[in-house]
Amino acid sequence: MTKKIAVLPGDGIGPEVVAEAVKVLERLRRDFGLNIELETAPVGGTAYDQTGKPLPEATLKLAQTADAVLLGAVGGPQYDTLPRELRPEKALLGLRSELKLFANLRPAILYPQLASASTLRPEVVAGLDILIVRELTGDIYFGEPRGVRTLSNGEREGFNTMKYAEHEVERVARVAFDAARKRRKKVCSVEKANVLETSGLWREVVLKVAKDYSDVELSHMYVDNAAMQLVRAPKQFDVIVTGNIFGDILSDEAAMLTGSIGMLPSASLDANNKGMYEPIHGSAPDIAGKGIANPLATILSVAMMLRYTLNASALADRIEKAVSKVLDAGLRTGDIYTDGMKKVGTKEMGDAVAAAL
Ligand code: NAD
Repeated sequence: MTKKIAVLPGDGIGPEVVAEAVKVLERLRRDFGLNIELETAPVGGTAYDQTGKPLPEATLKLAQTADAVLLGAVGGPQYDTLPRELRPEKALLGLRSELKLFANLRPAILYPQLASASTLRPEVVAGLDILIVRELTGDIYFGEPRGVRTLSNGEREGFNTMKYAEHEVERVARVAFDAARKRRKKVCSVEKANVLETSGLWREVVLKVAKDYSDVELSHMYVDNAAMQLVRAPKQFDVIVTGNIFGDILSDEAAMLTGSIGMLPSASLDANNKGMYEPIHGSAPDIAGKGIANPLATILSVAMMLRYTLNASALADRIEKAVSKVLDAGLRTGDIYTDGMKKVGTKEMGDAVAAAL
């Protein structure tokens, strides 16, 4: 059956990097029998410019009816003064909540060819391959009540609510354990159970879920220690599962271990493994339109799409191997360039990966 992919290029370098990922998908369709159809729609600032809304109904409908969504990036300084509900970032939150994408998967992989791009010593990070599974639709980012209130003494007080229901923890824990089964079979659950009741319940539920995965080794870590261990000895981790706010922070930390934001893909999944796939970087307005953005994060997001939603792991492997081959050949965009390598632009990099498939 033909699978439909919604393509939402977005703003800044979004359209540039998405074009290269589409090139790879088209090549897989032409040469490797991948049965897909693509439909493109505006999102973010581009959609606001065209329709007055960052997430037009037609775009949301396309995303809802598609089997998977490929997103570039949204945002730009020209939109920063808009009211909050019209800002491009609102489209991302809207897509995540409307599509019920509760699990965010962010691999931090350091290709051995790029070990010198990290700010950490090569022996600490070379060969790094960890997966952070972050809960995406709950926690203090969504908990009510929230707001700013005036106290009886006239002083203002801001407040937010951290909360997790058992089912929210259970479903994201299952995603993490399932992912670990396809990897090195280790899950580390990160919370702050020594201080927070929410974390105490989180730990209880994770322990219960673990009973269904006796082949996977489970450990627990407080978030402050996890932040430290990630820079001290990151290779001790396989899969990390954590809540929304802790995951937000730790996944950025893990991303920077690799030193190359232009290399890292992500997936956000619902309960049926339908997903939205996007690079972790933003719209990079400083380099937009110059043809120099690194398209590999978006191309590797397509590999995740093939693995998690389209059940085509062999083609996912093929993309990842093609990326490795191109790096072996010395091709580098500016963000990962080091002396002696061959500097290429966005299109050349995309062409090289498509050819190496
Ligand atoms: P950014 O990720 O866009 O850029 C950070 C730095 O990394 C910049 O110097 C940029 O040039 C560089 N960079 C990023 N991606 C690159 C790539 N593929 N190749 C080469 N270099 C790359 O983050 P920012 O500057 O903080 O944010 C810019 C805009 O993007 C803002 O409007 C922000 O809200 C938005 N944003 C969107 C998303 C998203 O769409 N998911 C995520 C983060 C930020």
